[in-house]
Amino acid sequence: MTKSNTDTNWRAATKLIHGGTSRSQFGETSEALYLTQSYVYDSAEAAEARFNGDDDGYVYSRYANPTVSIFEKRMCLLEGAQAAKATATGMAAVTAAIACQVKAGDHIVAARALFGSCRWVIETLMPRFGIDITVVDGTRLDEWEKAIRSNTKVCFLETPTNPTLELIDIKKVSELAHQVGARLIIDNVFATPIWQSPLELGADIIVYSSTKHIDGQGRCLGGVVLADDEFINDVFYDYFRHTGPSLSPFNAWTMIKGLETLDLRVRQQTRNAEQIADYLADQRQIERVIYPGRSDHPQYQLARQQMKGGSTMVAFQVKGGKASAFKFENALETILLSNNLGDAKSLVTHPATTTHKNLIEEDRKALNINDGLLRLSVGLEDIDDLIDDLARALTKTTA
Ligand SMILES: *Cc1c(COP(=O)(O)O)cnc(C)c1O
Repeated sequence: MTKSNTDTNWRAATKLIHGGTSRSQFGETSEALYLTQSYVYDSAEAAEARFNGDDDGYVYSRYANPTVSIFEKRMCLLEGAQAAKATATGMAAVTAAIACQVKAGDHIVAARALFGSCRWVIETLMPRFGIDITVVDGTRLDEWEKAIRSNTKVCFLETPTNPTLELIDIKKVSELAHQVGARLIIDNVFATPIWQSPLELGADIIVYSSTKHIDGQGRCLGGVVLADDEFINDVFYDYFRHTGPSLSPFNAWTMIKGLETLDLRVRQQTRNAEQIADYLADQRQIERVIYPGRSDHPQYQLARQQMKGGSTMVAFQVKGGKASAFKFENALETILLSNNLGDAKSLVTHPATTTHKNLIEEDRKALNINDGLLRLSVGLEDIDDLIDDLARALTKTTA
């Protein structure tokens, strides 16, 4: 037996390096990649025992896999969750976390500032199965209160939101949800597990796209759902195992290696983001900077209450609308144009013409996504090179 690596007293950075590790008989230092679909049994009796649940070994990798289990256990330790299941993408995590617990006649309340595909799942897919939905301005507690009713089963939100980095009060919404026995799901991608712990704030379920900061180096898609044993085992697991949104062991292995540097990367990316937010706020070509770690963020107090750090994301509005924003983007050399985020490389996107182009004008307005808005995912480059790049691009804007 090797030493067990499930010490819950470790601090986050240590959990991210050692948490959940299970070594084979070879005692490998780095986590093993078990690229296998199935498992063999010593005897017919052993197979029977495995299927009876008398022996908790592995049966088939759609259900569970040793490499994927290390990733799940490490995420549980980090979030203080009892259980987790990893999924092939963030959207598989979101869809499974919602669909496993609702039936026709149930009701879902969601904040309207959501990642585009999450909005589609709630507003377009769920109603096809007879599920009622209400979409609210997530920042307004009175709207949540009015929308939540006796048949509400799920409340869903992300905070900070994409792309305008608004905050939603997780504790207050969880209290409203629990009054009717609904579960609150938090999409914690923008906050990262380093800066926000939704379960501690009263949420019931956390979903991640591990494609973002958890991989952190732009390689593999992945996701994870975290909650208590009761939800994962009794509500989620059968849906998961029969519908098959499972994470590939190879991608899980990549995520495990990503987790080892998550704390370091998120802290440094946040330091860079803070400096960029302060720099941009002083430039005459910039109308407005939105950054949860700055005291001019409209919800700065809430940010300090529920987040342990700012964010790796900065949103800002360039004067001169779309033409100016495009000139700015095209003049960037170090910062790349991409709709992805959480990468070691700094990435910028113009939400109105990319990630949020499918929204009707009215919805974009409601979300404060105007034509001058840019969303920057700050990477790990030297801060001086990033500022040089921004400074060069600013001289090219029309304002
Ligand atoms: C990327 C993202 C998702 C979807 O994740 P995929 O891994 O691309 O499926 C969901 N929510 C948020 C906030 C995201 O940024």
